[in-house]
Formats: sequence, structure tokens, C-alpha cells
Amino acid sequence: MKKHAIIPIFIPHKGCPHDCVFCNQRAITARTADVTPEDVRRIAEQYLSTLEGRGLDETEISFFGGSFTGIPLEEQSAFLAVAKELKDAGRVDKIHLSTRPDYINEEILDNLKAYGADVIELGVQSFDEKVLLLSGRGHGRKEIFDACELIKSYGCFTLGIQLMIGLPGDSYESCIASAKEAAAIGPEIARLYPTVIISDTELCSMYRSGEFVPFSHEEMLRTTTDMYRILTGAGINVIRVGLKSTALISDAEGSSVVGEYHPAFRQLVEGRIAREEIEERLKEIDKAAAGLRTEVVIKAGPDRFSAVIGHKAENKRYFRERFPELMIKYIEDPDIPEQKVSVEAGGI
Ligand code: SF4
Repeated sequence: MKKHAIIPIFIPHKGCPHDCVFCNQRAITARTADVTPEDVRRIAEQYLSTLEGRGLDETEISFFGGSFTGIPLEEQSAFLAVAKELKDAGRVDKIHLSTRPDYINEEILDNLKAYGADVIELGVQSFDEKVLLLSGRGHGRKEIFDACELIKSYGCFTLGIQLMIGLPGDSYESCIASAKEAAAIGPEIARLYPTVIISDTELCSMYRSGEFVPFSHEEMLRTTTDMYRILTGAGINVIRVGLKSTALISDAEGSSVVGEYHPAFRQLVEGRIAREEIEERLKEIDKAAAGLRTEVVIKAGPDRFSAVIGHKAENKRYFRERFPELMIKYIEDPDIPEQKVSVEAGGI
């Protein structure tokens, strides 16, 4: 597995004219000092001093936070110049940034290309017009398709799509439709973000007034799991599922999470996928056992073993209750091919 490090540079989007209901950028930027190109250099040097010599395969400098290409072009260039210098010196391998679909045009992309930017992630969030409108995104589907097409037409950028789950107006069906539309566009990478309600946001007010009813935990897990399957099934690398706790706490100092937030959502999703795969096989074994105590061995390689067990061993618990007649043993076996799980009866 590739050893990969990210140097995160948080660029608050001062004066962002948009009002995405879930976003607390305004609150964050009010508390955050301006970031200058000198800060970018200092932060990058700090990270590099701890990363160099660790045998990493790839290091990326990543501009995230607001909408990188929404800031004036000269400011983008000043930040990118620092990143390019590090890239040209061979100290970082890639320049990565996130932005909005409606902040993509030829002038912006020409500039990004000139500075050697490699990865552009678009905060798409949803392909549903109603959801985009109710979430205050300030753009519609057309801007998403136009931006993706233009980025791909350059041939030099890796495209990423970020989707949110459970926004205002969302349903299981609208989320699945969004995942299918993203898969059809064919980005190389994707992120899935179950909606988190943060204080200091319009969404929080909507939640408190009863105007917004969040997905239940199970609804969120079911929907995210099926979206993950669609994206990975289309060969897209889902690089993140769920917000990092640091993105909620340190970046949004003073903000707090209202309602549900699970710090290990990816584990929940991968655990659920493994559970559903194994359950089918266990049903067959259980049926053949016809009520007799039967031994079963489940084997998985190191890449899949923790998903098989489930977050906090929840799959083990689930199978014990669901199939009381089966005596199941779990074995981590490096000989099992990647991503495969073997479920065999009578092997203990
Ligand atoms: S999510 Fe991005 S575009 Fe929307 S309000 Fe926040 S900073 Fe602005």
C-alpha cells in the first residue's frame, strides 16, 4: 500500500458570497486570521520537517477550506507559487485543491495548469436541483456538469467529486441518483460526507425550528453504504467517508456538533458491506444446517479483516444473534486474496 501524506493548508474563503446552509465558514473566518503565502510556506516547512525521511511514496500540498478558486486570481497565484516551488524542488509531488463547480472557467484552469496543480476536487454535494436550492448552494446541475467537463477536457487534472448525504430535501433516492450521476461523469476520486449539523449554521437553525429533519443513523448508513458501492463499483477511489473530527473541532474552534456525528463512518460503511456479503453465505449454511449446531470459519486478508469484524465488533455480535446455531470463528489469513472473504462450514 502506498504511503501518502498530505500537507493541509486551510484557506478560509473570506467574503464568500454564498450561503450554503451547512457551512460555518463565516463563523470560522470571523475567528481565523488571514492566511498569507508566507504562512503557506511556514506550514509546509513545518510538515515537511516531520515528513522527510519517512519513506513516503507521495506527498501532496492541499488547499482546502472555502473555495480556493473563488478567491481573486492574484491571491490564488501567490499561494500556488509557493506550492509550485516545493513541487519543482521535488519536495512535494502533487498540488491539490477543493472548490465549487461555479468557480471553474478557462481562465482559472489555465492558471491552475500554469502552476502545476494536479487534483481539483469539486464540492458538488448533490445533483438534485431541489436539494441544491434548499441547501443554499447558489448553483444548479448545469454548473456541475459544465465544470466537470471543462476540467476533464484539460487532460492534466485529476477530478474529484464530493457528495453530501442527507441535506435538506434529500431522500435515499435523491442520494442514490447523485451517486449514479457522479459515477457516470467518472471522476478519479470521490468523498462522501454524511451531513453534520454544526452550530453557527443556517442548518442548525432549521433543525432547531423543525424545518430540517436529519436522516436517522440507519438511514444515513444505508444510503452512504449504497452510494459507496455505486462509486467504488464504477472504479472510483472513495478517498474519504465522513468528516474528520479535526475538521469539526480544530478548524471550527468555537463551533460544536449538534445532533449525530460518527468519527469512524467509513468503518461503519465497510463493515456493513462485509456484513451483507457474509450474511448471504451464512443464510445458506444455516439453512443447510437445519437447526443443528454447525461450525463456520470466516477468513479475510489484513485489508478486509477489520471490516469483517465490524466497528467495535458489531458484525460479530450481529451474526451471533442472527445465527445462534452457528459457531463462528474469525481468522485473519494473509493468503486470502485482496478484498475477498472466505466463509466455510465445518472447518473448526
Ligand atoms: S460551503 Fe463554500 S461556498 Fe458554501 S458558504 Fe461555505 S465557503 Fe461558501
